[in-house]
Amino acid sequence: MYKEIVSFIRKTFNTPKGIIPLHEPRFWGNEKKYLLDCVDSTFVSSVGRYVDLFEEKIKNYTGSKYAIAITNGTSALHLALKLAGVEKNDLVISQPLSFIATSNAISYLGAFPAYVDVDKKTLGMSDEKLSEFLQKKTFFKDDGFCYHKASGKKISACVPMHTFGHPVKIDVIKVLCKKYNISLVEDAAESIGSKYRLKQTGTFGNLGIFSFNGNKTITCGGGGVIITDNIKLAKMAKHLSTQAKITHPWNFGHDEIGFNYRMPNINAALACAQLEQLENFIERKRILSEKYKQFFSKTDIEFFTEPQNSCSNYWLNSIFFKNRKQRDKFLKYMNSNGIMTRPSWTLMTNLKMYKNCVRENIENSEWIEERLVNIPSSVILKPSNEI
Ligand SMILES: *Cc1c(COP(=O)(O)O)cnc(C)c1O
Repeated sequence: MYKEIVSFIRKTFNTPKGIIPLHEPRFWGNEKKYLLDCVDSTFVSSVGRYVDLFEEKIKNYTGSKYAIAITNGTSALHLALKLAGVEKNDLVISQPLSFIATSNAISYLGAFPAYVDVDKKTLGMSDEKLSEFLQKKTFFKDDGFCYHKASGKKISACVPMHTFGHPVKIDVIKVLCKKYNISLVEDAAESIGSKYRLKQTGTFGNLGIFSFNGNKTITCGGGGVIITDNIKLAKMAKHLSTQAKITHPWNFGHDEIGFNYRMPNINAALACAQLEQLENFIERKRILSEKYKQFFSKTDIEFFTEPQNSCSNYWLNSIFFKNRKQRDKFLKYMNSNGIMTRPSWTLMTNLKMYKNCVRENIENSEWIEERLVNIPSSVILKPSNEI
């Protein structure tokens, strides 16, 4: 059986020999042209035409009112959480099944993650478990904010993450956050182009972020972006990401402690070229997931399909095994046969930095962690093999 899987993947990626990565970038568009133009212009750093152009393109693509280009997804998340009002000793609701950057960004502000379980149907934050947590474990103080009963800490933000590109039930989560006066920040690092009820992920929260790291659907080497519809937050994001410098023709004035988080123009040049191809990439990624779905339907391995009411970018395709033993057997076979496959992240609640954080019942996260494997998901050529 495993042998057939290897040959199916090799055929699909048109790679008879050598390693097939989990997700490799495709530079099929204007990448070289824009990079060369950027170098020729000498504006390779944090000011330049491509940075502005990239922000315009992100706004047009997502339908968000404002976009601020940032050095990477982690710093975008750090800044977005700060702008959402997260302060030292606060709690920020997160999920145990996520990339480490989500929890780390919370920690950079001196706040602590509080882990609510994920949903087996979306792989992201469960709206039901969130509702239960808020109902049973929190109370309102006179200041109008929601506090955690057991720790007495303020709950200032909630950061659902659209795991492997699949949208969570963000509309319900949004209503809950509003009801409990909690800022909603979407970690859409993995889900650029994914839609929930025809609306782009990242645009539901007070703020949303995307990542353009090398392994994501589109990449600019390293990069991120913050999106928001709030002009005040957008202005602050730009100000804080550029060392909080007060605009002036020659003086160096700064009015608070800012960050060097602005995306360099050379990365933005690459990002512009990649963004032009995003729709095409997603179309091909969805063709790939359909091929996988059909292939695995003839096996006893379960292929994960996009949740209801959503259109996923299928950043990383996932399959489920019956138990950890079978998962590990598969991982060993595939990786020693040149097919890069990976288990899910170690749950945050099992890492020493986060194991003592507030957490609810996390049975779904544990269930997923034991069984899930990500399989090669790079953008494929169209079946007709034209680019
Ligand atoms: C990739 C990723 C990030 C961080 O993005 P970088 O650009 O690598 O800093 C944050 N959150 C999630 C869920 C991610 O997958």
